[in-house]
Amino acid sequence: MQRQARRDTAPEVALRAALWRLGLRYRLHTRVPGTRRTIDIAFPGSRVAVFIDGCFWHGCPVHATSPKANAAWWADKLAANAARDRDTNRRLESAGWTIVRVWEHEEAADAAVAVREAIVRRKA
Ligand SMILES: [Zn+2]
Repeated sequence: MQRQARRDTAPEVALRAALWRLGLRYRLHTRVPGTRRTIDIAFPGSRVAVFIDGCFWHGCPVHATSPKANAAWWADKLAANAARDRDTNRRLESAGWTIVRVWEHEEAADAAVAVREAIVRRKA
């Protein structure tokens, strides 16, 4: 069973390493305003917030599955996750942040380039 309150998952570690290789320095554990949630990888200077979304928990279009056992419970659970993601996005956007969401199945090097582009756009 996957745990939801995960930290330092392999995709997160891979993306941080790829960002580091691009010379990008980030902060971890920055709070989402008004919540106890944290931004997976934050760039406070340019206000870019990066989230690495698990394919199952966040409903990736490629890998999302619908568990057959306890189907209604899971449907509610995953809908609540989606609602929380939208709430997180709203809160950060109203605080002036740009959000980059990366699926855990994406190549870390490609995702790191997308993050760098978001940072460059913010500075432009
Ligand atoms: Zn996926």
